[in-house]
Amino acid sequence: MPVSVLSFDTFPSFIVDKLNANFDFNCIDKNDAAALAALAPKVRALVAKGETVINDALMARLPNLEIIALCSVGYDGIDVAAARRRGIPVTNTPGVLTDDVADLAIALMLGVARRVVAADQHVRSGAWSRGAFPLNRKVSGSRLGIVGLGRIGQAIAKRAEAFGMSIAYTARGRKADLPYTFYPNAQALAKDVDFLIVSTPGGAETRGMINAAVLDALGPDGYLINVARGSVVDEPALVAALQEKRIAGAGLDVFVDEPNVPAALLAMDNVVLAPHMGSGTVQTRTAMGDLACANLLAHFSGKALLTPVLA
Ligand code: NAP
Repeated sequence: MPVSVLSFDTFPSFIVDKLNANFDFNCIDKNDAAALAALAPKVRALVAKGETVINDALMARLPNLEIIALCSVGYDGIDVAAARRRGIPVTNTPGVLTDDVADLAIALMLGVARRVVAADQHVRSGAWSRGAFPLNRKVSGSRLGIVGLGRIGQAIAKRAEAFGMSIAYTARGRKADLPYTFYPNAQALAKDVDFLIVSTPGGAETRGMINAAVLDALGPDGYLINVARGSVVDEPALVAALQEKRIAGAGLDVFVDEPNVPAALLAMDNVVLAPHMGSGTVQTRTAMGDLACANLLAHFSGKALLTPVLA
């Protein structure tokens, strides 16, 4: 009898195929109470994205739940403490997505500073024949601040080194083995940089960390890039800072209420927007699906989990 695995999230077909090949896999709408009630007694595993809300009440409805395997590195939607109380391990997919997210952070930084999207429109619309595209902002050699110097933050730093950028950071703790300048908080860091890239986890600890004071410290020539979680940035404060030109621009992959993006941001030409696609390549999503599956297979064959969440 194959193990029953449930998800409320949509995954690419190559991940669904793999889950179907190994498990009795079902994907339902979270609001479909009848489908959930019908499946609940047999479900032994959940597969989810890290921002999907899996709280104690949901776990209580799944009496035979043994493991939550996330297809993401972040786990801000999961009540990990409640899972631990219930003896339910949570796994995530660290490392395999680091390069892609760092690549996108650099793409957004270049995109907003060099105005790549507006430049594309300038060519396509025929405006080029009526006049030159306005000069924009040099990235190479400028000052980068990274908020959260973990796997992704360090991969961003490595790429920025190749651009001759000076690199500073803030994190919970100083990284003595790394050659970058440590700041005790985001506001102090923002004051001394041209580009501020956010790559912390989401969740209660970082909620609203990039607030009006941090944006004012970044200043009218500074750019904010967020590849972390929408919750880390005070979104109304960001919109106000952009509207009032208190910062120069923003490159955003994540938002507070995805897929809803504040209308004010959609109307601005000093922002570059992406649909939470940091890890969104075929190669990386395949690796994430493989790792999530490998964690499930390890659990159900009594082996050690590959990548348990230890928080
Ligand atoms: P990681 O290795 O755990 O790094 C997280 C970094 O954030 C660490 O340097 C940590 O500091 C720092 N940090 C944590 N809490 C903080 C706080 N309260 N104040 C300041 N710094 C804090 O994680 P990762 O693999 O780099 O992933 C980071 C995050 O990226 C994920 O949690 C997820 O939210 C986001 N992400 C986004 C996408 C996307 O599609 N856009 C894809 C993947 C991941 P210490 O080193 O001092 O502990």
